[in-house]
Amino acid sequence: MSYLANNYKRRKIGFKKGKGSFLYSLDGKKYLDFLSGIAVNTLGHSNPRLIKALNSQSKKVWHVSNSFEIPEGEILAKKLAKRTFADKVIFVNSGAEANEAAIKIARRYFYSIGKPYKNRILCIKNSFHGRTLANIFASGSKKMTEGFGPKVSGFDHFKFSDLKSLKSKITKKTAAIFFETAMGESGIKVHSNKFLKEVKKICIKKKILLILDEVQCGIGRSGKFFAYEYAKVKPDIVPIAKGIGGGFPLGAVLMTKKVSNCMVPGTHGSTYGGNPLAMVIGNVIMDEIFKKGFLKKVRDNSEYFLKELEKIKINYPKVIKQIRGIGLLIGIQLNVELGAFINKLTKNKLLTIRAAENVVRILPPLNVKKKEIDIALKIIEKVCSGY
Ligand SMILES: *Cc1c(COP(=O)(O)O)cnc(C)c1O
Repeated sequence: MSYLANNYKRRKIGFKKGKGSFLYSLDGKKYLDFLSGIAVNTLGHSNPRLIKALNSQSKKVWHVSNSFEIPEGEILAKKLAKRTFADKVIFVNSGAEANEAAIKIARRYFYSIGKPYKNRILCIKNSFHGRTLANIFASGSKKMTEGFGPKVSGFDHFKFSDLKSLKSKITKKTAAIFFETAMGESGIKVHSNKFLKEVKKICIKKKILLILDEVQCGIGRSGKFFAYEYAKVKPDIVPIAKGIGGGFPLGAVLMTKKVSNCMVPGTHGSTYGGNPLAMVIGNVIMDEIFKKGFLKKVRDNSEYFLKELEKIKINYPKVIKQIRGIGLLIGIQLNVELGAFINKLTKNKLLTIRAAENVVRILPPLNVKKKEIDIALKIIEKVCSGY
């Protein structure tokens, strides 16, 4: 009997420690962790630099509140701004909070320029932006919103990567177009660069803000720091979380100066957001990702992984329908039952996680080694051969 509520279907494995790409279970088994806490453990488990940063800060100061200056946060905000489109940053603690803040900022921006009627947010039908009330209604998913009415209004929906559908949903009231640059939870669905460029053009023409949710695909996961960099589009607001904390709860909203001007004292806040412990962790993650060759290695490993998965797909067309992905955000769409397939991978000591559309989601740490990818490929092939 567990005293934890039943809102998760948990696998019957617990872990006593982790190192690099591996997790060691309580019953002494060694697993290859290719879900990384859902795109969170950017540098794998027990990274020495992260441990050092956290230990060192834990002896200085844990928490002071945002009514004081937090120097570690100034440093991290500067690093994020220097490396991206952004001029300003607000720190929060999670992806859902980052998205909530992004929605608030878009609305407040139009309010601040005398156009308060521009307050609707245009999202993708059946997307994923987190579990708060606004975000579940932004997702437009029946499953996530069922039983949680009354509906939070102000969200419209278009079909994935469908420009015609998108254009038909834009009105004078549209404040922002809001979607994941590459969709994780919804089945590893990657927009074409052409689509992203067209959306940006529409945003400019119609004076609409572009919010790109990079909570999962950001922070190097795509092989670039942000996935939008492939299309060379400039967003106005980018919520992040997951990978930037490397396992420590941390989220943020990045934005242009133009947009950020509306966020004056009192408009938004978070008790823990930008806490010194989280900030020193974020600083290490940034330094590691921007070390020479780090992102190139992510792209090289991705290319290798995807190519080898395609070979397995060709050998087992009855099992695998499609290989999807960008960077180390990889999906195997199955022709067979998803849960059973993931259980078989787990039995063979490879940890993965499900996504929508019958997809196995594979998210290795970004510093994964090629020989670890080879172990995963062997296990995937072995499980396919059992069908
Ligand atoms: C995980 C995720 C969220 C929610 O993040 P939480 O930290 O769980 O609140 C939001 N958007 C996307 C794209 C995500 O993958």
